[in-house]
Amino acid sequence: MNLVVFRCGQCDTVVFPARYFCPHCGVADWEAQVVEAGTIEETTAVRHRVGAQHGEAVHLATVRTTAGPRVIARLDKPMHAGDTLWLELDDAMRVLGHAARQSVPDPQIR
Ligand SMILES: [Zn+2]
Repeated sequence: MNLVVFRCGQCDTVVFPARYFCPHCGVADWEAQVVEAGTIEETTAVRHRVGAQHGEAVHLATVRTTAGPRVIARLDKPMHAGDTLWLELDDAMRVLGHAARQSVPDPQIR
């Protein structure tokens, strides 16, 4: 599934997750926008989890999406800050990040 962020129809502020009112202008006029890619800002590995005695580490990253908002994504392999990746949602609505073989657009930082 596609990851969707929300652009304010009044001031173009982009948020994720969805909010009732825009934090910038206070209007409730949202346009859904698909986001397919981003750039990693930070990473971490979760090596010990309750109920998982011998599981492999789970690699997580803070990702600046090309639309602007940051998301926490689960990576399919260890990656590094500055790496670009493709984003999608799984059936449980978790954000997944996959290594990009080709470059992705630069983030539109607001
Ligand atoms: Zn707004």
